[in-house]
Amino acid sequence: MMEGRVIAAHGRQYVVELPDGTRLPCVPRGKKSEVVCGDRLDIERTSDNQGVIEGIQPRSSLLYRSNEHKQKLIAANVDQLVVVVATEPAFSDELLTRALLAAESEEIRPLIVLNKCDLSDKLPAARERLKIFAEIGYPILELSALAHAEDLRPSLHGVTSVLVGQSGMGKSTLVNALVPEANAATREISLALDSGKHTTTHATLYHLDSESHLIDSPGLQEFGLGHLDRQDIEYAFREFRPFLGQCRFRDCQHNREPDCALTAAVNAGKINERRFAVYHRLMGTLRPS
Ligand code: GDP
Ligand code: ZN
Repeated sequence: MMEGRVIAAHGRQYVVELPDGTRLPCVPRGKKSEVVCGDRLDIERTSDNQGVIEGIQPRSSLLYRSNEHKQKLIAANVDQLVVVVATEPAFSDELLTRALLAAESEEIRPLIVLNKCDLSDKLPAARERLKIFAEIGYPILELSALAHAEDLRPSLHGVTSVLVGQSGMGKSTLVNALVPEANAATREISLALDSGKHTTTHATLYHLDSESHLIDSPGLQEFGLGHLDRQDIEYAFREFRPFLGQCRFRDCQHNREPDCALTAAVNAGKINERRFAVYHRLMGTLRPS
């Protein structure tokens, strides 16, 4: 039995990096596979170029998105979620919010990267849209991946980060600049995984240095939170936390109930009304009027 870390996942096929740095394609033993990029595994080598996954070691975090029908794992054992948005094309506030909530629910540290800041005529509008996130305390790093991708590197030091974003935001530009061998590595991994030319459909873990790792995940167009219940979501709205548990009713839906601590915080200007509305939309309840 050996240990290894998943550095690429594609369907039920995984590339596992062994302690000596060599890479071994592996498949799960059972039918159902719940393995994801970043996982630490116990594996058994069955031949020179094939291994079988015997077990998944306990995860420090697990980032996923889901809808009512299925859960999709994004990455495991990550410390930081880097959400890439851009001045152009316009990014989805909702997707950004959902990604941040998914990170919060797993105690993963979030970082928003605003890319393409060289497009100076688009910058003020993008900053305006991010203001609500800045006010809650989310760090926002402005950069231009084309000119100064290195600006991101200090924020990645010493941790495992996962990079997500809608397509077109400049995620590949960033990864290719920070990890010069990314293209070659992706080709090699695709060969190992038999995934042919579709090189960008799987998540890949790259090493920036011995203690800093970057997981590039495929472009996201949705970020479902179906795996979170009401309590998880309340907690994931980080600015709600000081007020949780203080409503008169234990099962308060923060709608029209008397003595609702959250409604009081909104009225006192301590919680942004738009965020409160987003919360109610996510919960499928009506926002109080
Ligand atoms: P991805 O879909 O998120 O991987 O985005 P890409 O990295 O493929 O970038 C999408 C487009 O945005 C490409 O045409 C890039 O050249 C362009 N782009 C990426 N970063 C920047 C930037 O910092 N400034 C400008 N002006 N364009 C950028
Ligand atoms: Zn309440």
